[in-house]
Amino acid sequence: MKWTDDRSTNVEDRRGTGSGGGMLVGGGLGTLIIAAIVFFLGGDPSAILSSSTGIGNTQTEQRDLTKDELNEREFITMLTGANETTWSKIFTQYNMKFSPAKVVMFEDITQSGCGTAQSSMGPFYCPADQTIYMDLAFFNELQQRFGAKVGQFSVAYVLAHEYGHHIQTLLGTTQKVDALRNSGRYSEAQLNRVSVATELQADFYAGVWAKQTNDRTKFLEPGDIDEAISAAEAVGDDNIQKRMQGYVNQESFTHGTSEQRKYWFTKGYETGDIRQGDTFDQLLK
Ligand SMILES: [Zn+2]
Repeated sequence: MKWTDDRSTNVEDRRGTGSGGGMLVGGGLGTLIIAAIVFFLGGDPSAILSSSTGIGNTQTEQRDLTKDELNEREFITMLTGANETTWSKIFTQYNMKFSPAKVVMFEDITQSGCGTAQSSMGPFYCPADQTIYMDLAFFNELQQRFGAKVGQFSVAYVLAHEYGHHIQTLLGTTQKVDALRNSGRYSEAQLNRVSVATELQADFYAGVWAKQTNDRTKFLEPGDIDEAISAAEAVGDDNIQKRMQGYVNQESFTHGTSEQRKYWFTKGYETGDIRQGDTFDQLLK
């Protein structure tokens, strides 16, 4: 991918500031499981945070950022800006009001509006403070443990997916899903399907973003879309479950199979049309 001229003012880099601190949650669950689950959780990681066990204090060290890290910040600032510009244009088309998400880059641990964020959780979006939290260490994991081809566009896809959850919040989808979850009227299997639909729609929005940003900036290069699809496939429930436990349990899917994730990202990319993304319609009937 080529870098676009977009630059956001909504990125906060907490790496090297020594401000992490706080309570470390975790230890009871495999960090890999947490990373896999939260990446797909579609909004509210507090369920995972509160179910984890083992609490202790931790402090991150204050230090200067390396050249590579400063470059990463510039990259995330560009990508965030590219999401803001593209989504703001789409919202304007439909006479809707757009407001940008914040993006927090961190290492090890930080506080979020949804509780303590840990790098092992992978990137996530917190609707309570409309902020995406990301530790770039997640991408090494994506490559090493889940077999994705990781390049710049995989990072772009993941950020666009998280931004898709922000779009769901702006459109009121997140709130509807929460109401459904809290109503007590649905079985766990049904709620898992809701969760899958939420995740697949975020993949769809990531595809829409890729298409509309490319129309605007011609930023895509050969292989980029394949790279995003590879990342989307790698983080499918079936792939994760196979790698973690050696078998696949359809009932427990909360994020969609590799095939579904690939399908919805591609559909978003091919149509570029936010109205084509009713993943709920297909899954909940
Ligand atoms: Zn997600």
